[in-house]
Amino acid sequence: MPKKYRLIKNGSSVKSALPGRYAGWKKGKIFGRLTCASGLRMKEENRVFFRSWEDAVAAGYRPCRHCHPKPDDRYVRRRGTIRLVRS
Ligand SMILES: [Zn+2]
Repeated sequence: MPKKYRLIKNGSSVKSALPGRYAGWKKGKIFGRLTCASGLRMKEENRVFFRSWEDAVAAGYRPCRHCHPKPDDRYVRRRGTIRLVRS
């Protein structure tokens, strides 16, 4: 079965095949880049994804101090790995 992500889209939680643009840590209400090292370490049950910057901010999350996500971050997926291409 393909992996599904818990994605916040327009304020509601949906199951998505794609992780969206930002990853959030539910316990700390922090969101960061998909490539953030601290984000990749967190437990899956504490992880949530946001479709857009606005969705993350509207949910009360603040940007990660480690990876400094930007509202125009763009990613590509190459051979199963997500890479940041522009910020
Ligand atoms: Zn981060």
